[in-house]
Amino acid sequence: MLYNFAMETRVLEIDPLEDCRKIWKEAAEVLAAGGLVAIPTETVYGLGADAFNAEAVAQVFAVKERPSFDPLICHLPNAKALKDICVIPAELQPLVDTLAKEFWPGPMTLVLPKADCVPDIVTSGLPTVACRVTSHEAMRGVARALGHPIAAPSANRFGHISPTSAAAVVKELGGAIPLVLDGGACSEGVESTILAPCLDEKGKPAVRVLREGPVTREKLRGLCKVIKPSKRQLEEEAAKTPNAPGQLKSHYAPNKPLLLHDPKTPFEPQEGVSYGLISYEGDSPLAQQDCWTEVMPLSPGSGRLAEAAVRLFAVMRAMDENEDVDVIIAEELPTVNIGAAMMDRLTRAAAAREH
Ligand code: AMP
Ligand code: MG
Repeated sequence: MLYNFAMETRVLEIDPLEDCRKIWKEAAEVLAAGGLVAIPTETVYGLGADAFNAEAVAQVFAVKERPSFDPLICHLPNAKALKDICVIPAELQPLVDTLAKEFWPGPMTLVLPKADCVPDIVTSGLPTVACRVTSHEAMRGVARALGHPIAAPSANRFGHISPTSAAAVVKELGGAIPLVLDGGACSEGVESTILAPCLDEKGKPAVRVLREGPVTREKLRGLCKVIKPSKRQLEEEAAKTPNAPGQLKSHYAPNKPLLLHDPKTPFEPQEGVSYGLISYEGDSPLAQQDCWTEVMPLSPGSGRLAEAAVRLFAVMRAMDENEDVDVIIAEELPTVNIGAAMMDRLTRAAAAREH
């Protein structure tokens, strides 16, 4: 399908001190007419379409250059709206209720059996649909004003780094979409945790972690059994039905090579190559080496992992755009709490250059 890549992209700023309902209504009107709107969430900016309008959803795939096997997340105004798009098996209902109460509105996506009204294009033909109630007023407000769920993947071209600011959306998709709602920087910065509620081998409710994110394993502890499929299992499943590109080995990639530094070995720069370092706090022995053209700390204010998560994609973009840097080196991060999701994204960004 041909798409107009030379349209005017309007950016509407969301002022939290104003009554934003006018903006939600305006965005909902664009969606109701089959258009696309970039809308902030607390994790990354989403590229939204009316989830019940298959043609509009097709435009999301066209604009993102996203393969059709890659299903979208549906954003709902509240947990009650789940019943509009899924049919929850009775044995999983208590677990879904617990998770919704604990983490919604928030950065958690639940994969559940879909209702017939959800077009196949949204789920790439899968019998399940990914559902989310974000804590960002904008996405929920627009979905409420539209009266339908909003199908929205991250507002970047396929495989690129997810945008965490309106400016990053405009760089990715400016000229290709009519409207961007500017809600400032995203407060979490890493994409939502994707969980598939299921029964374990003993018939007890459990969740499979399909993508790591801000709802960490530590936060899930005590609520239900957590099954984390191994990388190999996910890759084998993805080869059969590549149903979660967040699960593809290479994803979230900058244009330049990005290498993860193994802390057990010293870093040896190559002659004639200029290196930029993405450092955790900027003061490690590695960061002190004099071989860097630029060192960007993820947590300069020592807000530690939470600060690092908010800045991760913006720092990856900045390094990518720095003309004096040829190769990006990233320090390994502690794989606890949100660090696990960040290492997952960095590993995939590095894998994009392995072949
Ligand atoms: P994005 O919003 O671009 O980060 O992509 C949405 C993520 O949700 C992708 O990794 C999808 O594969 C995943 N997803 C969406 N629907 C499903 C589903 N029915 N089953 C498994 N994963 C899904
Ligand atoms: Mg994405």
